[in-house]
Amino acid sequence: MRKALISQPTEPDVEVRDGHHDVPAGIFEALKRRRAAPASKLVSDFEGGVSDLIQSADEASGTSRNKHDLLCPRAKCGSLILRAGVGKWVERASVQMEPLGTQSPDLAALPTPPETAQWWLITPSPMEFENVGFTRPVQSLTELGRKIKLLTCAECDLGPLGWSQEGGTEFWLACSRVAYRS
Ligand SMILES: [Zn+2]
Repeated sequence: MRKALISQPTEPDVEVRDGHHDVPAGIFEALKRRRAAPASKLVSDFEGGVSDLIQSADEASGTSRNKHDLLCPRAKCGSLILRAGVGKWVERASVQMEPLGTQSPDLAALPTPPETAQWWLITPSPMEFENVGFTRPVQSLTELGRKIKLLTCAECDLGPLGWSQEGGTEFWLACSRVAYRS
């Protein structure tokens, strides 16, 4: 069974009132913005799984794209990674992105290759992302002789959320490792 991935304690509420003279200008507005941050969900929160996250296929090209904005899955971060409609849904072989046993508790486990996984494919350049981080090239754990870069959250460094080939034009985000703006 998949365990619940959102289990972080919530921050205590900060009491701030309009007109409170001890609050420096701007702080109140910043807090209000933060508290108004939109909720996000994980794939496991959707009854239909990934199929609930796909825009109906464009009949001309046969491609299906992400219906929601993609966010960092860490509940306290939620950085915007990719806008809705930019990623193309692809089912393809899973990729082992980190050595066994080193996976962050904030990230879902991926199937073991050659089992397939669900991906958002972004092309042709990192400019398509709103925010994303890359690791230095690392040796692929599943395809010997190839080097890949791992994709991480640009704000909090959580990762790997996906991967790309060194110097390649395809960027792959695991559907189960990003959150969806609801
Ligand atoms: Zn993050």
